Amino acid sequence: MEIDGFRGRLITVDHADYDTARAVWNGAVDRRPRLIARCSGTADAAAAVRYARDHDLEIAVRGGGHNVAGTAVCDDGIVIDLSAMRAVSVDPADRTARVQGGALWGDVDRETQVHGLATTGGIVGHTGVAGLTLGGGIGFLMRTYGLAVDNLLAAEVVTAEGTVLRASADDHPELFWALRGGGGNFGVVTTFRFALHPIGPTVTAGPVFWAADYTTDVLRFYRDFAVEAPDGLGTVVRLGTVPPLPVIPEHLHWRPAIAIICCHAGAVEEGERAVRALRRFGTPLADLIAPTPYAAFQCGLDDTVPHGWHYYWKATDLAGLSDGAIAVIADHAYRAGSPRSYAAMFHLGGAVARVPSDATAYAGRDVAHNIVIDGVWLPDESGEHAADETTWARRFLHALQPHRAGSVYVNFLDSDDETGRIREAYGEHTYRRLAEIKAKYDPDNAFHHNRNVRPA
Ligand SMILES: Cc1cc2nc3c(=O)[nH]c(=O)nc-3n(C[C@H](O)[C@H](O)[C@H](O)COP(=O)(O)OP(=O)(O)OC[C@H]3O[C@@H](n4cnc5c(N)ncnc54)[C@H](O)[C@@H]3O)c2cc1C
Repeated sequence: MEIDGFRGRLITVDHADYDTARAVWNGAVDRRPRLIARCSGTADAAAAVRYARDHDLEIAVRGGGHNVAGTAVCDDGIVIDLSAMRAVSVDPADRTARVQGGALWGDVDRETQVHGLATTGGIVGHTGVAGLTLGGGIGFLMRTYGLAVDNLLAAEVVTAEGTVLRASADDHPELFWALRGGGGNFGVVTTFRFALHPIGPTVTAGPVFWAADYTTDVLRFYRDFAVEAPDGLGTVVRLGTVPPLPVIPEHLHWRPAIAIICCHAGAVEEGERAVRALRRFGTPLADLIAPTPYAAFQCGLDDTVPHGWHYYWKATDLAGLSDGAIAVIADHAYRAGSPRSYAAMFHLGGAVARVPSDATAYAGRDVAHNIVIDGVWLPDESGEHAADETTWARRFLHALQPHRAGSVYVNFLDSDDETGRIREAYGEHTYRRLAEIKAKYDPDNAFHHNRNVRPA
C-alpha cells in the first residue's frame, strides 16, 4: 500500500509491529485502525490528511499517545502518528524552542535544561507535548510562567484540507486562539514554538508524605499554605499509597498516605524558604524535598504510571478547599480497591489567573484547585478490579458534586464523559467561539477523535 507523497512508515493490520503501534498509554484502550501512518515530517502529515479525506477515512491524531480516553487511536480509520517526530531545538539566545508534534515533555526538559531553560509542561515525562499543550497544559511552573498555551508563540498546522499554515498572534490569530485550549479539533500540529525561561538546573523540589490518617489536617493546613505560597512554588497533592520508588524508604511502600509534591521555580534558597512551613507541619512519614536537577525531578513520577496499565479517570475543578470538600476528599481518597489508584490535586492561580480568560480557549483560569481521580489496575486484573476502580472514581466525583466549580480540565476527561462535559470544560461562550472557528477550519469535522467541538 502507498500514500502519494508519504515517506514515513505505513503500518497495516498484517504488519509485525501493528499491535505495538496501535497501543496507547492506557492499556484498557483496544482499537484497531486500518492504517497507521507514522510520519517523518510535516509533508507526511499533510499527505496523510489528504489521503484520509480522499478515501473518506476516520482520522485519529497521535502525539504522545497519553490521552486516557485513547483518542489517539480509532477503529478502522487512519492514525496520523507523529511519534517519530520528537525533535526539540533550542535557541538559547532568544529563549525559544521548536518542538515537533510527537515530542514528549521529557524530550523538551532534557534539551532545554542543557541551557538552564524550561517552559511549563506536564508532571510526567512520558506525556506528549501536543495533546497536553492543545488542551491548556498545567504543571509545576504554571504559577510563575503560565500554562503551556501561555508560552506558545506559534504553531505549524496541517489543516483538514491537507494544507500547511502557521498560526501565531499575527498569522491566523483566531486559529491560534483556538489551538490554545481547544484541543486537537483544528488540525495536526507538526511544530510548536515555545517561550523558555531560566530554571535551575537545580531547584528545590520533591514530596513530603504524611500518613493517610492525617489527611484532613494536612489539607486544612495546605488550604492556607497554598493561599500564602509565592507564585514560584508549584504544588500537587497526591492521595493514595506511597509508590514503591527506589528513592522512597522501602518500609513505606504501598502505605496509604497524602503527599504534597513541590517544585520551586527560583533559586534553591528561595525555594527552601517557600517550603519551610510545609516541612514543619505535623510528623511527616518522609520528607524528600531537596535541591534536585529540574529535568530529573520532572521524570520522578514516570514509573508510577507506566504504559500498558489500565486507567480510568474522573475529574473536576473545585470551587475551593472548604471543610466540606476536604471531608469528602479524606473520606473517598483511600477507598479504592487497588493500591495503584490515586487522586491528584493541582494548585493553579498565580500567572495562570493573571491572563484574561478570553485571551485563549483555556477556560478554568479563575479556579485555584482541580482534582483528577485515577482508577488504576493491572492488565491481568481486568474484570473485578476494573469495576471496582471505575465505581470508586465515579462515587468520589459524585460526592464532590456540591464542591465543584462548574468547569473541568478538558485533558482530564475520559471516554465515558458525555459531550455535555466538553461544554462544561469550555463554558458556553468559549465553546461557541471554538465552534465558529471549527466551522471555518474544519467544517466537515474531519478531526473528531478528540474532545470534539462541533462546527457551528
Ligand atoms: C500520566 C499522565 C500525566 C498527566 N499529567 C498532566 C499534567 O501534568 N498536565 C496536564 O496538563 N495534563 C496532564 N495529563 C493529561 C494530558 O494533557 C493528556 O493526556 C494529553 O492528551 C496528552 O497528550 P498526548 O499528546 O500524549 O496525547 P495523545 O493521546 O497522543 O493525543 C490526545 C489528543 O490530542 C490531539 N493531538 C495529539 N497530538 C496532536 C497533534 N500533533 N496535532 C493535533 N492534535 C493532536 C488529538 O486530538 C488526540 O486525540 C497527563 C496525562 C497522563 C496520562
